[in-house]
Amino acid sequence: MDKRTFIKLTGLAGAGVVAVPLVSSLIGCGTSPSSTPTGPNPGGVFSLPELGFDHAALEPAIDSQTMKVHHGKHHAGYVRKLNAALEGHPMAGSALESLLANIQPNDTALRNNGGGHFNHAMFWKVIAPATSERDASPNGPLERRINASFGSLEALKNTLAQAGASQFGSGWVWLVQDVNQPDQLFVTSTANQDNPLMSGIVPPAAQGRPLLGIDVWEHAYYLNYQNRRTDYLAALIDQINWSAVSLLMA
Ligand code: MN
Repeated sequence: MDKRTFIKLTGLAGAGVVAVPLVSSLIGCGTSPSSTPTGPNPGGVFSLPELGFDHAALEPAIDSQTMKVHHGKHHAGYVRKLNAALEGHPMAGSALESLLANIQPNDTALRNNGGGHFNHAMFWKVIAPATSERDASPNGPLERRINASFGSLEALKNTLAQAGASQFGSGWVWLVQDVNQPDQLFVTSTANQDNPLMSGIVPPAAQGRPLLGIDVWEHAYYLNYQNRRTDYLAALIDQINWSAVSLLMA
């Protein structure tokens, strides 16, 4: 990753570079951990964000029990293990976004749990139930960029569904904004809890500013859909809150 990309990703604006809000701040990942073991919350500063809606709010697309376990057990576990992994770690004290950009591939605990925390925090935001008709479809710059990059919203939805269906094993599907060409959006997928911010891990073609993440781990759908990942994807993609996605764009 070149310096300009790093600056944009981390929001550390220098002269002539416009500060862009960190995605991790926008999705409520919590404050960066303190590098000192004392203070009001020693050893664990990243926190589980509130879901922001009822567990049953997305039924029948996603059932209440799945939401309860996914948020309260799976995501909570990533947060707990991330905080544990950062105790005494040289990257303790880094903001989550720069931490993700600098994880070494063999630093498994940080890679899996840092990614797990970020990815799920994003997931809850972009599937939050739409409160108006306007939220249910893209508008303004997002709509323009989707049409320019994919041809139409339907084409984007098909691309997301195909990427989700063809991801082998556990992983995520992403709508990503090109950091150097903000009008350019693309779809990519990553394995396990990797994500497009992990520039030391994922290939350059998958790197950028994530705007939308779709969880294709079995724990996201198995209670209701069993092996029918395609049905889960179709239902989930129709639940996306596009105004929430729009708020994450640079
Ligand atoms: Mn998950």
